[in-house]
Amino acid sequence: MTPDVRDRVDRPARGRVGTAEPPECRVAESAWARALELISRADKVALACHVSPDADALGSMLATGFVLRSMGKRVVASFGDRRFDVPRLLRFLPGQDMLTPPESFPAAPELMITFDSASADRLGLLRPNAAAAREVIVVDHHPSSSGFGTVGLVDPDAAATAMLVEQLILRLGGALDRDIATCLYAGLVTDTGSFRHSSTTPAAHRMAARLVATGLRTDEIARELWDRSPFGYLKVLAAALDRVVLGDGLVWTYVTRVDRAAYGLPYAELEGIIDIVRRTDEAEVAAVLKEDDEGAWQVSTRSKGTVDVGAVCAALGGGGHHNAAGFTSHESVEKTMARFRELLRKV
Ligand code: AMP
Ligand code: MN
Ligand code: MN
Repeated sequence: MTPDVRDRVDRPARGRVGTAEPPECRVAESAWARALELISRADKVALACHVSPDADALGSMLATGFVLRSMGKRVVASFGDRRFDVPRLLRFLPGQDMLTPPESFPAAPELMITFDSASADRLGLLRPNAAAAREVIVVDHHPSSSGFGTVGLVDPDAAATAMLVEQLILRLGGALDRDIATCLYAGLVTDTGSFRHSSTTPAAHRMAARLVATGLRTDEIARELWDRSPFGYLKVLAAALDRVVLGDGLVWTYVTRVDRAAYGLPYAELEGIIDIVRRTDEAEVAAVLKEDDEGAWQVSTRSKGTVDVGAVCAALGGGGHHNAAGFTSHESVEKTMARFRELLRKV
């Protein structure tokens, strides 16, 4: 049976009782058509996702890479971190042989596709490569998407970039196999907070059903993503929780390079700390400042809904979503938090 793309992309079921569908995918048909044309013409495609990749960024990129390779295209995939290292918790994703360090990424690709990056800044070292590329297809779901690139497959209503990638794959005539589905599921399940966030639409669940039907192991993926860590994580978490501060509806803490060095804990292992801090009943907003290997503070922020942390972080040079956003600070912890608090009062 040939899969029918139109059937698979979750068009709104108008008039059906009890459906609470989001509006039709916000990507214009003309943008899909242009993207398909550029891809079908290309022999080589260069893929890039945002720096410090999460599962949605890396999974979306690798899933696309699998499909392009099966179409006979030469694929390079990368992200522009100074230290090119796939976070341990994403090493289970298949297709890592496609990855190449940013230094070996084509300087001026004919066709580049970016994933989960709202702006060219988020490409880090690969920003100049995108600027020099002939065509750049941007696949993203951030409301703050800056409109960079030459073709935008951007839908702020999509729960994950992986949802747009599934559509792209099906429109390219590709099929979901277990490897592709594993990559996409990792993106979908993390960006929806395991189907807990308000972004979890019927379309997100239906996509999950299609992915799980390929035979992927949801239990193994969950274990890789959330249920394991090196022993040092517990010690660093203990230090972070020991310094946690609550006041004026904000709960926050920080983790230094020195905390991590004592246990040889890589920066990427800190991702889950915000999920523990943000559970605080007394706080509407949570923040965790994480010092990276270069000494900059990467700030993760979360809101329970009334505050738009995406707007606050955008004002601080970062970005993200209404309830989950981040920014980078080169100032001290105290100054960073003073600026964050000041903006929180204004929104
Ligand atoms: P995180 O706290 O790292 O899980 O990030 C939450 C959200 O904020 C994600 O959607 C990121 O894309 C976005 N984000 C995090 N850090 C930055 C940054 N420095 N600049 C722009 N967006 C960011
Ligand atoms: Mn992301
Ligand atoms: Mn995402």
